[in-house]
Amino acid sequence: MENLKTASIIDGKEVSARVRAELKAEIEYLKQKHGLTPGLAVVLVGENPASKVYVRNKTRACEETGIRSFQHTLPESLSEGELLTLIKELNASKEVHGILVQLPLPKQINEEKVLESISPQKDVDGFHPYNMGRLMIGSPLLQPCTPFGVMRLLESTGADLSGKEAVIIGRSNIVGKPMAMMLLRKNATVTICHSRTKDLPEKVRGADIVIAAMGRAQFVKGDWIKEGAIVIDVGINRAPDGKLVGDVDFEGASRKASFITPVPGGVGPMTIAMLLKNTVEAAKKLASI
Ligand code: NAD
Repeated sequence: MENLKTASIIDGKEVSARVRAELKAEIEYLKQKHGLTPGLAVVLVGENPASKVYVRNKTRACEETGIRSFQHTLPESLSEGELLTLIKELNASKEVHGILVQLPLPKQINEEKVLESISPQKDVDGFHPYNMGRLMIGSPLLQPCTPFGVMRLLESTGADLSGKEAVIIGRSNIVGKPMAMMLLRKNATVTICHSRTKDLPEKVRGADIVIAAMGRAQFVKGDWIKEGAIVIDVGINRAPDGKLVGDVDFEGASRKASFITPVPGGVGPMTIAMLLKNTVEAAKKLASI
């Protein structure tokens, strides 16, 4: 007989709307009680069309939540020195609590140098080695937004992660590695898989929690998924027919998983919500609230 059971959908739009509503109320309180308006500086260098869209969405989300946004749009020809001077000013500004430099940067600018020049207290992307290190030692300050958002989605399922087998596919600095540290903090047993991992299907078959962050359209098949597993799909890929798809075969995996995130509408909406959250947290810490 055909198995008609399907997984519950983890609705990222709904969870992110809840996070933003909580932040809106908190920002209102900070303004009223402490005269504090959290501020985010967004720095865009050059003409990358995708970056322009991301920056517009981030600025709009700030406005809707009550965060003051400061947009710095700079020419493609900007020198590294000029960008470092701007960041120095933003580091010193009393009105700016979060600094986000949209990547990628033009080739004449060293990304690592720029990210390291951001004050760790204002590093709302959580990419500074200081913040990565804090996460590594189990005492995070500001955490990378995408994996931080995944943790919030996992929390929304009510699942206890302690002692669970978690398999992460992808080892990037922005998703895979910080994700591993966050799951470890919740006492999961974590395996990080990557492009050189042998027998990936077998690794995934042992997982109670699967985090797919590889950037390969529908690579993870339904029959790799353990009965009752939670599947989080971070991937964003364009299918040959132009549709946005994740790294997981959603249909197949839905028949095995207990919970699953869709693409779009799963992890995507959480990233900006957690950026806003980081900005509010940074503002409170800088103001000693
Ligand atoms: P990346 O390219 O830096 O890293 C991909 C990782 O996947 C690498 O560690 C690589 O080893 C691994 N990988 C690639 N092919 C593999 C294979 N065949 N088997 C096993 N592992 C393999 O990517 P990233 O920046 O970490 O992003 C991953 C995906 O998540 C992309 O699709 C990206 O668009 C998406 N993403 C989404 C959000 C969001 O807000 N939803 C945020 C960041 C990234």
